[in-house]
Amino acid sequence: MQLSDDSGHILPYQVGKIVCIGRNYLDHIHELGNEVTEQALFFMKPASCLQNVHQPIVIPAHMGECHNELELAVLIKDPLHNATEAQALDAVWGYGLGLDLTLREVQATLKAKGHPWERAKAFAGACPLSQFVDKARFAKGLPNGFTLTVNGELRQVGETKMMMRSLSSLLAEISSLFTLQPGDVVLTGTPQGVGPLHSGDRLTLTLDDVLQIDTEVS
Ligand code: ZN
Repeated sequence: MQLSDDSGHILPYQVGKIVCIGRNYLDHIHELGNEVTEQALFFMKPASCLQNVHQPIVIPAHMGECHNELELAVLIKDPLHNATEAQALDAVWGYGLGLDLTLREVQATLKAKGHPWERAKAFAGACPLSQFVDKARFAKGLPNGFTLTVNGELRQVGETKMMMRSLSSLLAEISSLFTLQPGDVVLTGTPQGVGPLHSGDRLTLTLDDVLQIDTEVS
């Protein structure tokens, strides 16, 4: 998938990997009855998960519930290895929106057995992604928040100030574990309001007042 900015210009980055953070919003941890983890919970989606969120979103059929998890997406522009928090923030190109689509019933089975999550989160199309907005457009260098509306009902509201771990600390830690490359995308966790998506659902995604995306489930 070609990355673009909010004016439609192609960005000179190719996504290598998508690093995701689990359990970064307390309200979502509570809604799934999960425990707060001592360490940050990281997992990855390969680039083959990407689909353009503006196109009708394709979700797996006959795999049980496929849940929305709308998340702030961070586009990385410089390599990061063992970075400080300041270096990590400098390496951010900008922000967009990503859906960490999750086969919830498949995930529940995997979690119960202590197995990896890829079957539930790394299937083809598991990461619908938006265009990105230059970080300079955000007064504090970070968006205030994002929303997901499904069929006219507000389902998710994420405020970045409610993240349990700061973006700079997360990026610095990821850089010490996996290294980040230009074009990598970091999804920063989802707030409460996850739930099943169905064919024909109409979705509206917003990021502050800079992005509003109207799309649908295929
Ligand atoms: Zn997620």
